[in-house]
Amino acid sequence: AAKKENGNKVVLYNEEITKEKNYRYQVEARLRKAITNEKIEVYYQPKIDARGDVLTGVEALLRWTDEELGFVQPDVFISVAEETGLIHRLWEVAMKQACCQVRIWNGNREVPLNLAVNFSAKQFQDPAALVRQVKDFLSECQLDPTHFEVEITESTLLYNMNETIKALKELQDYGISVSIDDFGTGYSSMSYLKNLPINCLKIDRSFIQDIKENYDNAQIPEAIINLARSLRLQVIAEGVEEEYQKEFLIKNKCYQMQGYLFSKPLNRIDFEQQWLLRE
Ligand code: C2E
Ligand code: MG
Ligand code: MG
Ligand code: MG
Repeated sequence: AAKKENGNKVVLYNEEITKEKNYRYQVEARLRKAITNEKIEVYYQPKIDARGDVLTGVEALLRWTDEELGFVQPDVFISVAEETGLIHRLWEVAMKQACCQVRIWNGNREVPLNLAVNFSAKQFQDPAALVRQVKDFLSECQLDPTHFEVEITESTLLYNMNETIKALKELQDYGISVSIDDFGTGYSSMSYLKNLPINCLKIDRSFIQDIKENYDNAQIPEAIINLARSLRLQVIAEGVEEEYQKEFLIKNKCYQMQGYLFSKPLNRIDFEQQWLLRE
């Protein structure tokens, strides 16, 4: 009987995998259409300086609701895009929309907003082309490179390492900042960090959400903040949802924050209404 049960489990497991694979094929096919038909939209999540809750910039995050599939989680369609090579086209969508939008917003602002865009490891396969494209997008939209930020994860740094570092250095020389996203969840070794062309560590939201009201479980964010300070890097906390998490961060002199406590990612119209028209 036990054998039979196990046998059934294997069958079930295979069915699950098949379903998952079919779903991803569907996502790929629909995503291709969505890119062509311009159905992908950039949402903007505010980045805040908690000293006075000042808006300092936005992170561009892609959103896609498909006619057939409904809302597709960004993690899902991004990973499908990475596997299928569609990520280049998705990135172009994000860059085009976000750079031009932020340029327009900055036209009316005394203090310009910074724009952060997420880059995938796959995009660093041809670093020279990537650098050229970034420069082209920025100059086409007339967005100042010093107001532009690249977010990459630790795994991107380790993938194709020498080439990636070269590309990041060139971007930095051009005035662009580089942030390590989801910091603490990957494999960066301390010795690497010291010599890498990076400007900012972005503490992963899982560590921020571990911080409890009595500041239990705060050792890791505290250690990352101290590490950033010793390496003279900036630091930002993502996923700040609770007032006491914000307080903890301020106490530890980490003033840059992002999270639902301040705002969810918003589409252009909502962002303008909630953040720009009010200022
Ligand atoms: P990420 O770059 O780490 O983005 C932060 C994610 O955390 C976003 O999820 C955001 O909506 C969510 N978030 C922000 N504040 C909070 C909070 O207080 N609580 C909680 N629970 N979540 C919060 P989203 O938009 O679903 O994006 C997921 C991931 O998809 C992103 O993680 C990024 O890795 C990727 N992604 C999104 N847009 C792009 C893109 O244009 N290009 C690339 N390569 N990746 C993208
Ligand atoms: Mg990010
Ligand atoms: Mg992140
Ligand atoms: Mg992430």
